[in-house]
Amino acid sequence: MRPVVKLAPGKYPCGDDSLTIKTDYHPNYRDAKPHLIFNLGCMCSYCEKAFDDERELAVEHIQAKRYKDENGNYPYAALETKWENFLLSCATCNGRDNKGDKNVVYGECHLPHLNNTFLSFQYKAGGVVNVNPNLTGKSLANAEALRKLVGLNKGPMDSKSKDRRWFVRTEKWDLAMRYLYKYESKKVDIETIIDLVKGHGCWSIWFTIFKEHPEVRKELIEQFPGTAKECFDSANNYEPIPRNPKNTIDPV
Ligand SMILES: [Zn+2]
Repeated sequence: MRPVVKLAPGKYPCGDDSLTIKTDYHPNYRDAKPHLIFNLGCMCSYCEKAFDDERELAVEHIQAKRYKDENGNYPYAALETKWENFLLSCATCNGRDNKGDKNVVYGECHLPHLNNTFLSFQYKAGGVVNVNPNLTGKSLANAEALRKLVGLNKGPMDSKSKDRRWFVRTEKWDLAMRYLYKYESKKVDIETIIDLVKGHGCWSIWFTIFKEHPEVRKELIEQFPGTAKECFDSANNYEPIPRNPKNTIDPV
């Protein structure tokens, strides 16, 4: 999952005052959508599906506004309009069968704007997303928590019919492998690869498959808005590195 950096409120993302990021979008959190798309690109923060039509993406509440605790209270209701609580999500990742209104507790689950979530998972052929087997302890537990939260562990046997994310990942894996061959055979250039990723999404699959091509990985980091550059080691093929090295419990 692509790790991202969210802009701080008050930044003027494109010199247009109407797009100044606010701390609070009261009364309508949906007004934050153009700011989020400018910051993070027109793709789902979780499954990385790319969209031409921004209406297919929703302002996603990291801590769900409708989450109800055991006492019948809504502890995150006050965060409904707060920039700090937003990412972008497709309908599937944020649907009732996946993230929905589940409880998200910071420090108990990796999140793409706080952790190096490319380090959390391994993307493989057949649409498989595994937790990175090199993780241990709290990092392993928090990566698994994110995988379960958004249902990235679901394959063809346990996805509902409308949840085609595993199939999309399978398709994009095959596409990226085909274009890796074409790229290495000098039949296509780097610009074509980047255009394909922009159109097809699944950034992490392309980043995985182009592991041996740091020049492609560099463009994947630089040309996709919001990608957290500090999560990748430019001196070592842009391999992922811990985002929170001072955190002894979970450096990821
Ligand atoms: Zn999604």
